[in-house]
Amino acid sequence: MPGRLLAFVRAGPSSSSTKIDIKAHDPPLLPPYSIHPPPPQRSQERTKMDHLKRHTLTGRHYSEKKSPKIDPKRPAKMDMEVESPPLVFYNQPQSSTGALFSGQLKVQVTDPTVTFEMFEMRLLATVTTKKPVSHNCPDCTTQTTEIYKWEFLKAPTLLKNGDHSFPFSYLLPGHLPATTHGSLASLDYHLAAVATSSTGENITYQRSINIKRAVMPGNDKHSIRVFPPTDLTAHVTLPPVIHPIGDFGMGMRLSGLNTKTKDALTRWRLRKMSWRIEENQKFVSPACPKHAQKVGGEGKGVLHDEMRIIAHEEVKSGWKTDFEEGNADVEFKAALNTALKPLCDVESPNGLSITHNLVIEMVVAEEWAPLKKPNQATPTGAARVLRMQFNIVLTERSGLGVSWDEEQPPMYEDVPASPPTYTQMEDFNIEELDNEVDRLHL
Ligand SMILES: [Zn+2]
Repeated sequence: MPGRLLAFVRAGPSSSSTKIDIKAHDPPLLPPYSIHPPPPQRSQERTKMDHLKRHTLTGRHYSEKKSPKIDPKRPAKMDMEVESPPLVFYNQPQSSTGALFSGQLKVQVTDPTVTFEMFEMRLLATVTTKKPVSHNCPDCTTQTTEIYKWEFLKAPTLLKNGDHSFPFSYLLPGHLPATTHGSLASLDYHLAAVATSSTGENITYQRSINIKRAVMPGNDKHSIRVFPPTDLTAHVTLPPVIHPIGDFGMGMRLSGLNTKTKDALTRWRLRKMSWRIEENQKFVSPACPKHAQKVGGEGKGVLHDEMRIIAHEEVKSGWKTDFEEGNADVEFKAALNTALKPLCDVESPNGLSITHNLVIEMVVAEEWAPLKKPNQATPTGAARVLRMQFNIVLTERSGLGVSWDEEQPPMYEDVPASPPTYTQMEDFNIEELDNEVDRLHL
């Protein structure tokens, strides 16, 4: 963990914050950009709905009651058609090739003509802190970064009444963190287009875009844990990645249950097992220049972290114990609590990090038997708790998704030499089949 811890501000078992020197980090991926944050999505939707109402309920004074502010008439309107598929970054930030984003910005000129002096669109990333350094300070709460800018016009341009399309495309770099809505911070992306007419009017358009990340599954992970001073060893098989929705299997073999001495046998019996998945969020809340002194200078922030359990279960039976071999085998299905809206793994240089741990705990009780009568085992009263922890990657399902750079037409060698033959097909009469069915029912 880079960063120098300066002082503990608050600490707790599941939540803590620490003043941290963010200068020690790599240069922030998302440098602050002085543009006002977009209105929250809900109010955007409402604006859109009011807009629709105005169209459908013209002359009824219905929408005017709800929103007395009437937009001044603009010489043009803007809309967007996104042509690229949903934005998914495949694989980890270090190896992802990103996602192609393309579409058309539609300008509908309602006046006979309009001259655009300037027409551009920005792709912006907004990080919103839930725990700002200074409460109620918008600059501490929100940082906006320009990811890309399209300049649609090189010189003032006259557009005639009617529809005009401005195509755009961009290869979103795969190292960008995915859209994330955590309890410490949110990361959102949106497009902001603005056209300025020669008469000084601004025609604007905003749209939020959702970026997901899907780490490709790969092979199962096998891990071994030992529990000295006992001879117990756990071999754990875990899925390479897990998903917010749906279940997944895990398997474990606990071996080394038996210990033989000269005339006696001691063995461990698995009594109880439980597992849980912990979600760890971390975020370094930055301070704006005005409030930098609160955290000990510019470029510093406060590290917050929070842990919650997004799935847990106590497994009381269902494992197979083989004392001949000295093994206990457990297989179980797990699923995350979707009501808690589990967050996918994120690691962003701006200080936002979300990781997951699988914790497995087992209780084993010791039994003793004379070597001559191994079936007459009695509990000795000794018991141990075995605890294991594994890092587990929570990511979106990759589905049938194919990264843009892997999409290619079939090659000649992929096409079979001749079409398949149908020699095993037989003609049949549909009536005969019905008769057959009737006979079987009788
Ligand atoms: Zn501030």
